[in-house]
Amino acid sequence: MPPLKTEAIVLKKNDFRETSVILTLYTKHLGKIKGLLKGVRTEKSRISPLTFSQGAHILAFFYIKRFSELNLISNPSLVNCYEITCKENLKAWYLALNLVNLFTPEKEKDERIFNLLAETGRMLTSITTPEILFVIFKLKLIKILGYGIELSRCVVCGREEKTNIFSGKLGGIVCSHCRYKDPHAINISLKVLRVMRQLESMQIEKAGIIKSVPEEILVKTNFYGNITLNYHTGIDKIWWANEENLL
Ligand SMILES: [Zn+2]
Repeated sequence: MPPLKTEAIVLKKNDFRETSVILTLYTKHLGKIKGLLKGVRTEKSRISPLTFSQGAHILAFFYIKRFSELNLISNPSLVNCYEITCKENLKAWYLALNLVNLFTPEKEKDERIFNLLAETGRMLTSITTPEILFVIFKLKLIKILGYGIELSRCVVCGREEKTNIFSGKLGGIVCSHCRYKDPHAINISLKVLRVMRQLESMQIEKAGIIKSVPEEILVKTNFYGNITLNYHTGIDKIWWANEENLL
């Protein structure tokens, strides 16, 4: 197969042997893939280390191996390295990259995920509320992945009353009649629900408009997002532990 030239964002970097790296990337045209970039960790290499660092937005050639998980990457060039200097913003960026790495299947293209990630990186270079942006990012990702979140009516029967219950499994709010469909469903307060609706419907480019959300409400909103994601994963570790450093 001929190589494919596409943009990509580096989700994760691992050194490989003496001079190479293995990158996990979210590409615009191939979805998430893993690839080997040879011989770049030497002084002679003409490729800047910024090009293969976590979070870099690059343009490169990809040689896709049909029978192997490990593809080949060549001639990467930097499109954007997202100069994120604030420590909190950097935390949010690494958390966002990690979420995409954990929750997207390999080789399934979805340009919306690529665009969401690129926009999030761009915004994190200047936004002063990275924790709010991160929660919006998560809600958008959940939506793209098709896991929910329905916040306006009961996700089972469509009723709009008595819907102060949230189900991660069903992906949204449920009414008291349908609660039995998920024994793990838990209550959600109207205050949290209102904020969650606002964040979920907001365009990511406009995230900077919201100057503050009470910490307790933001933490809860993030928690409801996490139980939705967690229902769809077989990961048996607490993948959200690092989020406590940001929220
Ligand atoms: Zn219902």
